[in-house]
Amino acid sequence: MSEEGGTTAPPAIDRKVRLKVPAQHVPKQPPEVRVHNWEETYQGFDLETARIEAYRCIQCPAAPCQKACPVHNDIPGAFNLLEQGDAVGAANVFRQTSNLPEVCGRICPQEKLCEGDCVVGKHNIPVQIGKLEAFCSDYQRRTEGLPVPVVAERTGRRVAVVGAGPAGLAVAELTAAQGHDVTVFDAWPYPGGLLTYGIPNFKLSKRIVREKMAQLEALDIRFVTNTVVGRDVRVRQLLDDQGFDVVFVGVGATKGGRMRIPGEDLPKVHQATDFLVRANAPQDLLPPGYHERPWVGDRCIVIGGGDTAMDCVRSARRLGAGQVACVYRRTEAEMRCREEERRHAVEEGVQFRYLVQPLEFLADASGKLVGVRCQEMRLTEADESGRRRPEPIPGHVFDLACDSAVVAVGYSPDDEWQRDSDQIETDRSGLVVIDRRTGRTSDPRVFAGGDIVNGADLVVTAMADGRRAAAAINEYLSQLGCKGARPGS
Ligand SMILES: Cc1cc2nc3c(=O)[nH]c(=O)nc-3n(C[C@H](O)[C@H](O)[C@H](O)COP(=O)(O)OP(=O)(O)OC[C@H]3O[C@@H](n4cnc5c(N)ncnc54)[C@H](O)[C@@H]3O)c2cc1C
Repeated sequence: MSEEGGTTAPPAIDRKVRLKVPAQHVPKQPPEVRVHNWEETYQGFDLETARIEAYRCIQCPAAPCQKACPVHNDIPGAFNLLEQGDAVGAANVFRQTSNLPEVCGRICPQEKLCEGDCVVGKHNIPVQIGKLEAFCSDYQRRTEGLPVPVVAERTGRRVAVVGAGPAGLAVAELTAAQGHDVTVFDAWPYPGGLLTYGIPNFKLSKRIVREKMAQLEALDIRFVTNTVVGRDVRVRQLLDDQGFDVVFVGVGATKGGRMRIPGEDLPKVHQATDFLVRANAPQDLLPPGYHERPWVGDRCIVIGGGDTAMDCVRSARRLGAGQVACVYRRTEAEMRCREEERRHAVEEGVQFRYLVQPLEFLADASGKLVGVRCQEMRLTEADESGRRRPEPIPGHVFDLACDSAVVAVGYSPDDEWQRDSDQIETDRSGLVVIDRRTGRTSDPRVFAGGDIVNGADLVVTAMADGRRAAAAINEYLSQLGCKGARPGS
């Protein structure tokens, strides 16, 4: 209020001044250093530089960045606090709509989401929203630790979450906070899904995942690991015999695609997930039989053009391969990976062979992999995905020598979880059909979200699904009412 009692207009935003501020530099490990370690590539902003970068946000009222974010983070609101030096306040703004800001800040494809719609980007480099989100949440973790969750009174209602990836973890966190008893089942020894057993450390440090798990344990969430739902226990048993009121299915789409070409089962032809798990996951989080790091030799060929392929080429360099080639059947323009990740790979010495389709893995007389027979391709008209279709150039076949190869050609759902749960509707690809507003499946007590619904996608979309489903589960359980607290709690 002004002294006269009227309303004071908010200070005008000095947009012209802000637009002249250059984008701030985020320090990175130099390529020749980082290929010898598994630490994160980016070393992050300091507070002063982060404040300047946040000041580049022109606080546009329409906030297209916020609309483009799958969880609608209040990005201008967070940066308003950050530019004034309140990094913890900014982190808390992100935490209102996101369970994993330190993860999304690092690995969301911001150029296709928030930064892609940043108005500053029409004149200059967009505000580095992801790097700032990571900075604020890291600053909070470093200075105060993750916020201690507030838990509502116990309801006695029980939620089973199948799959401890970003979708399942979001459901677990948000339903436990409402006082429900939450148990998370996962096939791996440790939670996190692909955050732990897929995405390499040079993009996302495992320390972040471990700190998140410690925060969730403070919510009294039970983790039942090394348990395959469908084999060790069934969805139906969880509901009918074990007393769970609802089940959330967030099992991802983790079955690696195969090329179906001769020689694919040769030793040293690795499948991407297995390769990345062995290369990246800490030894103490690996199940028996997984402890040996993959052998790559000096020459490694990675097949594929997505983010997984980029993670594999960069991991192969860190495992000691001197010559790493990424073989892709279309061109750079059709690659699905982040441009930033392709650039990092190039900086790290990875060669790209475009318009090349492997035909066969080649072995010598002793059965040892020695190379890949390849077909040269050319592009024709666009297919239904809008990308130009590759076709073979007759007679253009050649061999590439290698010591190891990695197949990184996509993921599909594994239907093991579904044994005996065939009341739950899936589509022809095995993806679960849900009501998009609630995440509810054809069985009213079963909800689903993440890659098992969308196909292989993103951490942020899986988390957004989990958040939507958690809201619907909380509403459903509140309609059922309290059941009395768990014995002993
Ligand atoms: C190598 C790689 C790199 C990626 N990089 C990025 C990136 O940079 N940015 C980005 O946004 N996204 C990235 N993604 C995609 C992202 O990781 C996924 O979209 C996201 O993790 C999906 O979350 P989810 O919760 O649906 O499933 P997941 O993270 O796949 O988790 C599913 C969990 O369910 C468990 N499970 C499966 N079946 C069963 C069962 N029957 N019983 C018990 N547990 C079961 C699994 O063990 C797993 O822990 C990457 C994916 C891969 C493979």
